[in-house]
Amino acid sequence: MKEILQDLSFEEMESLVLSLGEKKYRAAQLWRGLMQGKKISDITDLSKAFKAKLLERFEDEPVRIAETLTSSDGTEKYLFALADGNIIEGVFMRYKYGNTQCVSTQVGCRMNCAFCASGLGGLVRDLTAGEILSQILVVNALHGGTPEKRAVTNVVLMGSGEPLDNYGNTVRFLRNVSREGGIGISPRNISLSTCGIVPKMYALADEGIPVNLTVSLHNADDEERARIMPAAKAYKIADILKACDYYFEKTGRRYIFEYSLIHGENADRQHAEKLISVLKGRPCHVNLIRLNEVKERALSGADEKEAYRFLGMLEKAGLSATLRRRTGADIGGACGQLRASRLKGE
Ligand code: SAH
Repeated sequence: MKEILQDLSFEEMESLVLSLGEKKYRAAQLWRGLMQGKKISDITDLSKAFKAKLLERFEDEPVRIAETLTSSDGTEKYLFALADGNIIEGVFMRYKYGNTQCVSTQVGCRMNCAFCASGLGGLVRDLTAGEILSQILVVNALHGGTPEKRAVTNVVLMGSGEPLDNYGNTVRFLRNVSREGGIGISPRNISLSTCGIVPKMYALADEGIPVNLTVSLHNADDEERARIMPAAKAYKIADILKACDYYFEKTGRRYIFEYSLIHGENADRQHAEKLISVLKGRPCHVNLIRLNEVKERALSGADEKEAYRFLGMLEKAGLSATLRRRTGADIGGACGQLRASRLKGE
């Protein structure tokens, strides 16, 4: 695979342009074209000779939409092809307040959570910063968005992969995506979801990029949590909470917990009580969702009644919580489901 031009910061693009014998202002034209989601070869205000030089070294189209599935609720799911032939997936969800895109940070995932399709084949490779960014650039362009008037208003790092297991590329992506004069998505409109890689949560707090920190909890008891999330063996809930508090101290951002309700596993009364005892009084919000069933994984989602009972208990105890609707369940909305089925030739 060639290099990915979208990995570069604006300053690095300026140096590149100069090193290729072009005037510095060409960097702004190049950057702008890329932020509009264009291929290098489609940027019209650059000379053919300059573009040919770029194309010797860089991929013209690092991320291409290979397939689109549209759900009855308007959610779109994409299968993206990368330049080396790997595939990843992403989701575009329409809400009243704007549109949220869910992006992947790795091809596959090494975390192997018991309910998740992304970990089925292990980790294949990390995505580069530009491959993460390009998912947004192409989808924004697809929906008629520009850097000035974005179609993608919010971003969640909740596709395949563990963003904090690909730390350097994820942070570089966050800087490039939020930079003014680029696609300019504010860190406040970006949520980074982690299974709880504690040392990297501290590092992120110190980066000065105040994204919304989301932790996938799914159980408030360490031993039970480790049953469905192998990463929980390494990082205990008490340490995750300390890292969350540090994040809050540093950024002033309240943190969020994801809790996917799994029937017979984490959705009973005693699980809600345990969650309340662990989170009470903290500056946090709980996002409940009923598990999206993955056919390769032997776990089923809580039913609606169980889910509302769980939500009711949290609310009664004064916790801030919402039960999210399962968008795109009919198109394999959960992480890694579409890729897993395509890899099997379905
Ligand atoms: N690795 C990161 C981000 C990717 S997963 C993390 O663990 O947070 C994004 C969220 O979707 C996580 O909360 C994850 O636990 C959850 N998830 C994965 N598969 C799911 C499924 N089948 N149904 C419901 N939620 C799921």
